[in-house]
Amino acid sequence: MKVSREILRQAGRELERRRAQADRELRQHRAQAYAAVPALERLDRQIADAGIAVLRALEMDRESAADYLLLLGQQNQAAQEQRRQLLTGHRFPPEYLTERHTCAQCRDTGFVGGRRCACFTQLVRSLQYRELSMDAPLEKSAFALFRLDYYPGQAAPGRQSPRKLMETALAFCRQYAAEFSEFSPSLLLSGPTGLGKTHLSLAIAGEVIQRGYGVIYGSAQNLFRRLERERFARAGEGSGAAEESLLDCDLLILDDLGAEFMTSFTASVLYNIINTRLNRRKPVIINTNLTDAELEATYSQRIASRIMGNYIVLRLQGSDIRQIKRSE
Ligand SMILES: [Zn+2]
Repeated sequence: MKVSREILRQAGRELERRRAQADRELRQHRAQAYAAVPALERLDRQIADAGIAVLRALEMDRESAADYLLLLGQQNQAAQEQRRQLLTGHRFPPEYLTERHTCAQCRDTGFVGGRRCACFTQLVRSLQYRELSMDAPLEKSAFALFRLDYYPGQAAPGRQSPRKLMETALAFCRQYAAEFSEFSPSLLLSGPTGLGKTHLSLAIAGEVIQRGYGVIYGSAQNLFRRLERERFARAGEGSGAAEESLLDCDLLILDDLGAEFMTSFTASVLYNIINTRLNRRKPVIINTNLTDAELEATYSQRIASRIMGNYIVLRLQGSDIRQIKRSE
C-alpha cells in the first residue's frame, strides 16, 4: 500500500489520541472505584509493588528465585481475584480497573512484535478513504432524515404515485445498506435532478461505513479531477494511491456521473474503474441524471453496456423536490 507521509502522521496522531483516551478512562475509573471502595487502592498498590519485587529474584540463587517467583505469582493471582470480587461486589464490571485500548493486540501502539499491527493498516486505509471522499455531511443524509412527504402522493391513472415509488426505492436502499457485504451487487440510481439520489447513496455510505467497511464516496467530477492530478504528478507512471483506493475500497459511490467535464482521460478512468471493480467483484453505486441513451452517448457503448448488463438499475421518477425543501 502506498501511503503519504501526511496520512502516516494522521494515523500516528490518532493512535496517540487512543492511548491518551485509554489512560484518561483508566484514571477516571480508578478515582471512582477508589472513592467507593478504598481497599481497592491498597490492593492496586500491592499489585504494582509485586511487579517491582520481581527484580529481587535477580539477586537470588536459581532455586530460591524459583520459589520466590512462584510465591509472588500466587500472591498476585490472589490479589487480582480479590480485586475482581471487590469490584463486582460493588457493582463495578470486573475489568473496570484494567486499561481498555481500542486495539488489545498492540495496546494502540500500532506495533506487535516489531511489526505493524492490523489495526494500523485498517486505520491508514480509512484515513485514505476519508481523504478521498467529498466533504459530504453524512449525518445530515441518514435514512431517518429522508422525507417521503416531499413526494406527491397522487398518482396518474394506472401508475404508482411518486411517493410510492420513492418508498420502494428507500426500502431497497435501506435493505442494501443493512445487508451490505463484499458480495453486494452494484447499483445505478438514475433519474432527473432533485429526486434524492445523493441523499439515498450518502445514507448507504454512512451506514456501510458504520458497519466497518471501507467506503469512498464523492462526485464523479471531484474524484476524476483528483485522479488526473495524481496521474499528472506521477508523469504517467502507472496508477497512484488514490486510483488504487478507488479500485480497491469495499464500496465506491460515484455521485452525479455525467456532470463532469468529459475528456478522453475521464472516459478511460471510468472504464477502468467499472471494469476492474466488476472483475474484482467489488460493488459500485453510480448516481446519474443521464438516461440510458445519454449514458451511452456521453461515454461509450462499452461503458454503458458494462453498467446496464451488470448493475441493478433503480429508476427514480417524479419532479424536483428541492423547491419544496427550500420553501420550508
Ligand atoms: Zn493494533
